[in-house]
Amino acid sequence: MTLLESTWTLRDGILHSPALGALGLVAGFTTRTLGSMAGGVFPLAEQDRNRIALAERLGFERVVRLRQVHGDSVVHADDVGTAWPEADAMWTATPGLLLGVAAADCVPILIADPAGPIGAAHAGWQGTSKRIAVRLVETLVRNGADVTRLVAAIGPSIGPCCYVIDELRAATIRDRLGADSADLLFAGPDGRPVFDLWSANAQQLEQVGVPTIERCDVCTQSGGADIWSHRGEAGRNGTGLGIIGRPR
Ligand SMILES: [Zn+2]
Repeated sequence: MTLLESTWTLRDGILHSPALGALGLVAGFTTRTLGSMAGGVFPLAEQDRNRIALAERLGFERVVRLRQVHGDSVVHADDVGTAWPEADAMWTATPGLLLGVAAADCVPILIADPAGPIGAAHAGWQGTSKRIAVRLVETLVRNGADVTRLVAAIGPSIGPCCYVIDELRAATIRDRLGADSADLLFAGPDGRPVFDLWSANAQQLEQVGVPTIERCDVCTQSGGADIWSHRGEAGRNGTGLGIIGRPR
């Protein structure tokens, strides 16, 4: 397994994944410069406009979105119309569709087979402990991907530098991940548990056989980049999109 760390680059308001970009894909995470793309803080019409502008600028027909519920369901993006289904991951083999998962502090996970389907998942502590990255890889493989070719990128999210959780949540994570949680949960500076979302998702992707994994390693709270975060900010907090698409 090859692990690429801290490689994402900011260009035109988007933090880009170089590993996925090298495959001819558009893949990355939108910053505040492009406006809020989802969430309940900014008006829905404004978010619609921001997504339409994003798709047009990148040369895509539209941004496919989901009603994210912190679960582990994966849907076919080609079937998603204007009534968004409840799911936290999707896939497509169709060029021209831009998959967009909303995230402020949760992890956007972007995966591609260079010669096959692509997918995106939204993984907070819930999705991560339910192994949604594994569910997405399994779905891609069922739909023609060769796991030995897959490239996965773990986007910006709240990092192990900042993600302090309570004991109840830590217990749920331990329960779901079992022995795998040993290296992922540790005591923070004040003794409260910290959950390492980046390593957790990298571990799952490695376990399921993904050979190339790229970690952005930018923390949405302390990373200093121009990214929306739910935490650590007094003003109105928007939501960015983790995006992946194959241009026509
Ligand atoms: Zn941080």
